[in-house]
Amino acid sequence: MPVTDTAALPQAARDHLLLHFARNGAQAPVLVLERGEGAYVFDTEGNAYLDGLSSLFCAQLGYSFGEEMAQAATAQLQQLAFSTVWGSAHPAAIRLAERLAELLPGDLDHVFFTGGGADSVEAAWKLARQYHLARGEPQRTKAIARDIAYHGVTLGALALTGVERYKAPFGAPAIPVTHVATTNRFRALDGEDEDALCRRLLAELEQTVLTEGPDTIAMLIAEPVQNSGGCITPPRGYWPGLRDLCDRHGILLVSDEVICGFGRLGEWLGVERYDVVPDLVTTAKGLTSAYAPMGAVIVTDRVAAPLHDDPKLTLMHGITFAGHPLCAAITLKSLELFEREGILENVRAQEPHLQRRLDELRSLPIVGDVRGAGFFWALELVTQEGDGRLDAGQRERLLRGYLPGRLLEAGLIARPDDRGEAVLHLAPPLICDREVLDLLVDRVGEVLADAGDVLQATKEPA
Ligand code: PLP
Repeated sequence: MPVTDTAALPQAARDHLLLHFARNGAQAPVLVLERGEGAYVFDTEGNAYLDGLSSLFCAQLGYSFGEEMAQAATAQLQQLAFSTVWGSAHPAAIRLAERLAELLPGDLDHVFFTGGGADSVEAAWKLARQYHLARGEPQRTKAIARDIAYHGVTLGALALTGVERYKAPFGAPAIPVTHVATTNRFRALDGEDEDALCRRLLAELEQTVLTEGPDTIAMLIAEPVQNSGGCITPPRGYWPGLRDLCDRHGILLVSDEVICGFGRLGEWLGVERYDVVPDLVTTAKGLTSAYAPMGAVIVTDRVAAPLHDDPKLTLMHGITFAGHPLCAAITLKSLELFEREGILENVRAQEPHLQRRLDELRSLPIVGDVRGAGFFWALELVTQEGDGRLDAGQRERLLRGYLPGRLLEAGLIARPDDRGEAVLHLAPPLICDREVLDLLVDRVGEVLADAGDVLQATKEPA
């Protein structure tokens, strides 16, 4: 029997839908969101929530452009519903590739479409490998990534992901990867300033490269601002340092822009804030503003050169639905809306205010650090004892027990997370004006004030 009764949907979800990265055996009713408008989403009972996470860092434009997107989709579906980019091509994919080449910095001019983030990361790995093979360096079989970083969980991407508990159940990694330290300044060594932290991290990285063997490493992947661990921003000089290290050792530099790209940091690519052009970029999520699922890897002339120069060389990777005409048409529309609605300009204009308002929350004892950039922020949650880290019990009680329900009660979607330090992630749609951002911060403040009381009240006796 099809489920027709809206009120029955939460139970039907428990019965039939496996929720990703969720406790499917939990008893709490599943939140069922059925409508969106502006920066808000609405559940089946009509309750409104300010989407402080842009549906997992995707809904850059918010939820009110469905009609225009539908027109673009309809026109495309009526003309050509599907065709691949395997050997042949279609206009929407070509125009989108051309548009991306125009918008992205430097000579990031060659686009390989994918279905999503992990897909992009794995495609980047294969493109990097083919580049080195074509240049007579087959021994470059390893990668470097960063601790706690999330690059997706399909088996290739999982090897690059640095969250141990996601990897442990699934055996030996598909790619040999060495993970290096993150750039969490809040957890820097005593007395270490930004420049000293940067020097230490780059020296550690250099040592890792030398230990592994510089000519065995194919690529280094990092996010401009690392999501997992809580919006970990790079110290001044870090990205230029990565660029320099990669150049000296023939390693390809990959910026994972799945979250930071397409306006999240106020630029087309997050890494533009740090004055570096990487060799490859991986994108998904905000690329389409999530009006359709799509990802892309974009590479420089140098990385694409072997594929163009040798008429007998086959690009050894392909994904049937990648570059789907429907998704390409929607992405073209999304990029057009970005410009028409002044999305990058809005993020740049609002960032200082958002930062100022979030900084005010440092007065709450539970807030140890406020960090991020653009519309991408995290609040690190701490106790007043020791080094401030929440222990396992506190994390369970606060991040999985108290906060999810309390946030919804406050009409807010945000993400408590403890893959690294305990944090609350905030990443509102890029259309938000000052008033909505103020509301977001006010609600976060209310919830965290209560969370601080709960933390105190539930303190285990020493
Ligand atoms: N890379 C980064 C930086 C991500 O944040 C994610 C997902 O959150 C991925 C890759 C994987 O993306 P997907 O979930 O689309 O496979």
